[in-house]
Amino acid sequence: MRKLIKGIFLNPKSDYSVEVLNNYYLLIDNGKIEQIEKNIEINEVAFDVFYDFGDRIIIPGMIDLHTHIPQFRAAGIGKGELLEWLDNYIFLLEAKFSEKHFAEDSTKLFFKHLISKGTTTAVMYSSPQKQACEIAFEIADESQVRAYIGLPLMDRNTPEILVQNTEQVINDIFSIAKKWHKKNKCEFVLTPRFALSCTEELLQKVGEIAESDDFFVQTHLAENKKEVQEVKLQFPDIENYTSVYDRYNLLTPKTLLAHCIFLNDEEIEIINERNCIIAHCPTSNKFLRSGIMRANKYINAGLKVGLGTDVAGGYCLSMLNEAMEACEVSKLLSVQNEMHDDVLEAESAFCLSTIKAAEFLEISEEVGNFEIGKKFDAAVFELSEVHKITELKENELLRALMYNIDNRTAKAVFIDGNLVYHK
Ligand SMILES: [Zn+2]
Repeated sequence: MRKLIKGIFLNPKSDYSVEVLNNYYLLIDNGKIEQIEKNIEINEVAFDVFYDFGDRIIIPGMIDLHTHIPQFRAAGIGKGELLEWLDNYIFLLEAKFSEKHFAEDSTKLFFKHLISKGTTTAVMYSSPQKQACEIAFEIADESQVRAYIGLPLMDRNTPEILVQNTEQVINDIFSIAKKWHKKNKCEFVLTPRFALSCTEELLQKVGEIAESDDFFVQTHLAENKKEVQEVKLQFPDIENYTSVYDRYNLLTPKTLLAHCIFLNDEEIEIINERNCIIAHCPTSNKFLRSGIMRANKYINAGLKVGLGTDVAGGYCLSMLNEAMEACEVSKLLSVQNEMHDDVLEAESAFCLSTIKAAEFLEISEEVGNFEIGKKFDAAVFELSEVHKITELKENELLRALMYNIDNRTAKAVFIDGNLVYHK
């Protein structure tokens, strides 16, 4: 099947720049980009379908590096900081995922909304029940999303209704991974929820699996001050929070660390040496009154930084929203620190949520931006009616899109060249 797509393409680049392909045509053959042209004679091109998106904006499918499938129904609900919020809202909601129908309905709802916001690749936590994790994979697979999903591991400091048996959950890891790891567009991710929820025995075993197999690892790190203090109490002989994961060989180039707000220079150095990936989740960090991560400081230090919605700490699945928030909180940080260097610009935030994230997930040869030979993962958006395309400069298009907070829903979304959503 050959598809011809016309519109205004915003094309993020690895050097944090954004190219504007105004009124371009992309020819898609069998899901892959075959041609990118400004002027073509339509009569001379062989295609089966023509999508003329006119003056709509087309961006690469966005990549969410950190979010929680079962928490979606709690978006915006609840109050308080991380640890009490988990106890008062989230664990109760995740416990309901032991009911099969609730888990199925909620998971379908999550993926429907995820795709509608233009996200085509996501790294996610399922609910901690084995069945809920398998349901997540089944629905992700049907949705066609490039899905990295982990069963959150929690064998201590967890309400009785959710706490896992260490030996049993290790068996569950192997059982789910055997069925779903690298099947179609799915990958199983090793997911110690965070240091406080795991015994040292469990961390040890997961570290061994991470070393022996080619898995991504995801966890939370230094999100909240009280959490950091608790980790000190529970691991008194380990120097700092980052070193807890390092002790158990959980820090690898395929490890995604969400939040990373309260890190000292030594910890930043460890993360840099281990070449881990940081998932910056500014909306969640506001909602749970956690703090502001110094994204630019980390990027300038050479760390791999991407963005995550962290629903339901975050209250919106839109990565355009998350990119905007990353810019906005960086401005507050720059005022607070009196350092202009802390400001993250829209172009950088856009690249973090597309091509840079693809590089970190080792899929940039396939997706992340529009290049010949790559798969066509894309989302089509309409600008707000207050912005007339003809009156905008090309370099204003990205901000007009990113700050269009009244409408975060895509008009159309493609994965592998297939139209998976349209409005
Ligand atoms: Zn999270």
